[in-house]
Order: sequence, then C-alpha cells, then structure tokens
Amino acid sequence: MNPVDPSTEPFVAPAVKPRTQFALQVLRKETLSPHMVRIVAGGPALSEFLAKDATDMYVKIHFLQPGVNYSEPVDVFALRDTLSREQWPATRTYTLRWVDLAAQEVAIDFVLHGDTGLAGPWAGACVPGDRIIFSGPGGAYRPNPDAAWYLFAGDEAALPAIAAAIESLPPEALGHAFLEVDTAADIQPINAPAGLALTWLYRDGATPAESTALIDAVASCRWLEGPVDAFVHGEREYMKKLRDVLFKQRGLDRSQVSLSGYWAYGRTEDYFQAEKKQPIGQIL
Ligand SMILES: Cc1cc2nc3c(=O)[nH]c(=O)nc-3n(C[C@H](O)[C@H](O)[C@H](O)COP(=O)(O)OP(=O)(O)OC[C@H]3O[C@@H](n4cnc5c(N)ncnc54)[C@H](O)[C@@H]3O)c2cc1C
Repeated sequence: MNPVDPSTEPFVAPAVKPRTQFALQVLRKETLSPHMVRIVAGGPALSEFLAKDATDMYVKIHFLQPGVNYSEPVDVFALRDTLSREQWPATRTYTLRWVDLAAQEVAIDFVLHGDTGLAGPWAGACVPGDRIIFSGPGGAYRPNPDAAWYLFAGDEAALPAIAAAIESLPPEALGHAFLEVDTAADIQPINAPAGLALTWLYRDGATPAESTALIDAVASCRWLEGPVDAFVHGEREYMKKLRDVLFKQRGLDRSQVSLSGYWAYGRTEDYFQAEKKQPIGQIL
C-alpha cells in the first residue's frame, strides 16, 4: 500500500510558516482513558498568545531531534538560519482542548497509539517540568448559530475538537455526535445539550482499515429537519468515505461541512502532510 516505508525513510521537516513560538512547561498530566492523556502546560510565554474564535483551535508542537545540538534558548524558527532542514525539529498538530489565558495554561489531549511516532510516546512518558514548544494557533470552525442542527463525527484524534465544539453549543441545540473509540473504557464525559445525542462506537481492536462503524453510523443516522452544520474529522480513509456519504448520499453543500483528515493509518504526520499535496492525500 505504501510507496515508501515511513519508518525507514529519513526525516525531512516540512516547511511551516514562521510564527511565534511558545515555550511552556508541562504542569500536570491526567489520564482520561486507556488511550488518551491530557497534558496541561503553561508559562509566561502565553501572555503573547492570540487565541482564535474557533472551537478547533490547534497548534504545531515542535519536537527537538535527538543528536542535534540546539543552542539555548531554543528558537525553533531562528534555528532554521543555521541548521539544515534535516535537523529542524519535527512538528505534530494538536488541538487545544481548552485555553485559560488568565491562568496562562492550555490543555492538549493526546491519543496514546503505541510505541511508534513522536507525540503519542512523548505524551505517555512526559512528566511535570518537561518542556513543550508549539506555534500557532490555527483553526477556523465554530458551530454555525444559524444551523437547525449539528452533526459531529470523528475518532479519538478529533475527540478534543468535537468535545470543545459540543460544549460551546447553546442548551437548546439539537443533533447527533458519533465518536469512534477502541472500547467502552475510552468513553469520556462531554457536557452536551440534552437534544444532542452522543453515540459512542467501538473498534474493539480493529484497525481503521477494518472498521466501518463510524461510516455506517453516519450513513444510517436519522436526519433531522432543516439545514445541518457538520464537523467531521479523523483518519483519512474514514474521511474519504464520509465525504461521499455527506456530499453524494446526503447532498450537503460544501459550506455546511468542515471535513478533513487528521492523520492517516500507517503514515507519520510528515508523510501524511506531504501526501496532502498528492491525489492520495486529497479529500475535498
Ligand atoms: C488539525 C489537527 C488537530 C489534531 N488534534 C489532535 C488531538 O487533539 N489529539 C490527538 O491525539 N491527535 C490530534 N491530531 C492528530 C495527530 O496530529 C496525529 O495523530 C499525529 O500523527 C500524531 O503524531 P505521532 O508523532 O504520535 O505519530 P506519527 O509519527 O505521526 O505516526 C506514527 C504511527 O502512528 C500512527 N498514528 C498516528 N496517530 C494515530 C492515532 N490517532 N491513532 C492510531 N494510530 C496513529 C500513524 O499512522 C503511524 O503509523 C490532530 C491533527 C490535526 C491535523
């Protein structure tokens, strides 16, 4: 399936637009479920942080590469003038589950997906006092107040963004949220309006290549009256199938749908992001 083996190819940092970096410390760590951990990080650098009016606000976390001598204090953008592209820190994209600028704290929920990769294993192993550097934020979605109802669908990687969106809804909001996790032990509390039905779906150890739970649930869900606002994110192949459900089967307009791949099964984020420029990586 892979034209290249991501695990053996040399890492080349993708070009990231220079933005302000925020060098913070891990303050607290909380286990949310067997496959998810929350890192609360903070520090005075957040006094410069410009939050977006978006519920899917995300940042690029910069991971310093072992064996590279980075001069202190590390400036992930300035070091590009002196180090080769291969030595630049690797980046991974994560949603800010919440931001508390008064307390100078942010929370990021990481999927623990095993020993591979950078961010997941880092989050599993980090301890208070560890450094975390990110830049951003990006993000553009906030539930459309003019919609008659809301549709949310995603896997664990999108759970933080979906939960933040659901918790921003007014109490009278209606809709469906379909959340795919591994087992019932991975359910997390979400403060949802009474009229928004939360449905948890389980992979039970299946890979995203094998599971059709999320796609089947959205394809067969009871459609409500009036225009829907849909926020649908997660594994790339899921998103391709859900794109067809929403646009071909349900006839939605592009303006009603926020849909993107957050990760790709079998790919590191470096490859996944590079593939977005090629036919395999294009969803919309
Ligand atoms: C806008 C945006 C927001 C995101 N928000 C979050 C977030 O809040 N929380 C979060 O956990 N992720 C989030 N993601 C997804 C995250 O960026 C990717 O999962 C990323 O690949 C993780 O990096 P890594 O270093 O752990 O693994 P990588 O080095 O990128 O990949 C190593 C291996 O792990 C696999 N892998 C990667 N992610 C997962 C996963 N979620 N489940 C199972 N296998 C995986 C890959 O397919 C690959 O085989 C977001 C992505 C985007 C684009």
